[in-house]
Amino acid sequence: MNDCLFCKIINREIPADIVYEDDLVLAFSDINPQAPNHTLIIPKKHIARVSDLKEEEAHLMGRMIMAANKIVQEKGLANKGYRIVLNCGKDAGQEVFHIHLHLLSGRKFTWPPG
Ligand code: AMP
Ligand code: ZN
Repeated sequence: MNDCLFCKIINREIPADIVYEDDLVLAFSDINPQAPNHTLIIPKKHIARVSDLKEEEAHLMGRMIMAANKIVQEKGLANKGYRIVLNCGKDAGQEVFHIHLHLLSGRKFTWPPG
């Protein structure tokens, strides 16, 4: 997947502020933060949309959530609250077609989202 931006970050072909990495998951700061802390959490395997996820890939979503848990624990945000967002497809505003969780924290969030 040579033309995927997030695969290039995984392969260290373009720079990113990496905050967490394990065998299956990578997390890095969003380049255009929408909150004081805005981290993107991605699987190392290229999967374009969450709707493309196969049964045998379902564990990757759990590992991404566990990565989010580790990051908020480290930042001391677990009790304060935070938001996890997953945009899927055009109407949700997905711009990068490699599954990513947005982990947003450090301010209050409104509901419903925009
Ligand atoms: P989405 O709209 O859900 O596809 O989110 C894509 C996110 O990727 C946006 O929040 C962008 O700010 C972010 N983004 C785009 N390019 C980069 C990059 N090179 N490094 C970090 N974040 C990026
Ligand atoms: Zn990719």
